[in-house]
Amino acid sequence: MRIMLGYHNNPGSVMLDLRTINSITGMMALLMAFVLLGMRHYYPRRIKGTLLWALSPIVGGCSSLAYGLDGVLPAALAAMLGNALAYASAAMNLFGTAAFYEQPLNGRRWLAFTLAVLGVIACFMLVWPDYRMRVLVFALAMTVYTGMHASLHWRHGLSFAGRLLAALLLLRCLILLLRAGSAPFIDAADATRYGPTLIQMLYLSSFSVGGMLTCLGFVLLASERVRAEFERMANVDPLTGAASRRAIMQSLDGEVQRWRRTGRVFSILLLDIDHFKRINDRHGHAVGDQVLARFADSVKSALRSIDTLGRYGGEEFVVLLPDNDLQSAAVAAERVRHVVERQIVEAGLPACTTSIGCACIDGSGPTVEALLADADAALYTAKHEGRNAVRLAQPQAEQASASARR
Ligand code: GH3
Ligand code: MG
Ligand code: MG
Repeated sequence: MRIMLGYHNNPGSVMLDLRTINSITGMMALLMAFVLLGMRHYYPRRIKGTLLWALSPIVGGCSSLAYGLDGVLPAALAAMLGNALAYASAAMNLFGTAAFYEQPLNGRRWLAFTLAVLGVIACFMLVWPDYRMRVLVFALAMTVYTGMHASLHWRHGLSFAGRLLAALLLLRCLILLLRAGSAPFIDAADATRYGPTLIQMLYLSSFSVGGMLTCLGFVLLASERVRAEFERMANVDPLTGAASRRAIMQSLDGEVQRWRRTGRVFSILLLDIDHFKRINDRHGHAVGDQVLARFADSVKSALRSIDTLGRYGGEEFVVLLPDNDLQSAAVAAERVRHVVERQIVEAGLPACTTSIGCACIDGSGPTVEALLADADAALYTAKHEGRNAVRLAQPQAEQASASARR
């Protein structure tokens, strides 16, 4: 069975004319809109714009219906209603996307632009009736909407779905410009919406098929954002912005594997805030939280970009220092200790210091657990010897002889 596009009269083939294709894809866009409406209940509230995206094809469908009311309503009224709803649908897409990327758009300016365009179209309908000018103005104004929408996705949608949407919308811009360019050559006497020219076909499809694909792109984009949000929630500690315990343990594991493969050493720091209970007791838990957040910022500011800070639990943190032996780790730890001591007071928070234990994979056991145990032993020494201090893990042989001596 062959499905043919256009106006063929070929026995044995199934005719799907443009009107049918547009109706089917329009309905699929509506379906997609309802999918999005349903899915948005499961999205975190932080994801904005999805309601406008979901409403846009519904308003677009109403626009098609309004054009079809020609005969029921006066022709000019039906066309103006159709045009106004088409722009409303485009605006919902545009503003939905701006909200999604958290980009401010001037709503009043866009409303003024749209009203001005509708005014000009009304003039070419009622004052100087000119179908070609109406097509030209409508297509050019829609190009402005679509171009702005494409540029938002191009600048902010760095993912696959974002790029796909930008490409789709740019293609629609091209079709709209073709339509505008061809407007002076339209045979006005023959100007039916479903006229058989190629440009007309592309133009109408850019709304129906294009609308459906855009809606699909929105669903993909929102799903990508949900996945990224969940990943962030699993990998980032919300209070301090440090890596979560799960994420830092994974990084440590990866670093041990890399060391086994390549022999490239790395070190860790185990940090514990000194007398943190006192801060909570004297200033309250909320201030304690602020100190924790500021502490993490201070530690990060003292590290290189390739180092990772993770919250190990409570007020204990781990720092992963790739390509650092124990001596370099000690230098980094001293820098961290000093920065913490200075910056937290500078931030107007209760003074706080930290004790740090350092261990290097080269001197410790070949597992994450052994490395952490060595850093913990060094941290214990730092606490024991007065706090606000850095201590290094002893190489295993030394540890063994030290415990034998005890
Ligand atoms: P030390 O110098 O021996 O480490 O003394 P310390 O008071 O810091 O003792 P410890 O490490 O046992 O105390 C940790 C405290 O940190 C206990 C707990 O109430 C507090 N804490 C853990 N997580 C949080 C948090 O998320 N917010 C706040 N405000 N406090 C926390
Ligand atoms: Mg502790
Ligand atoms: Mg402590």
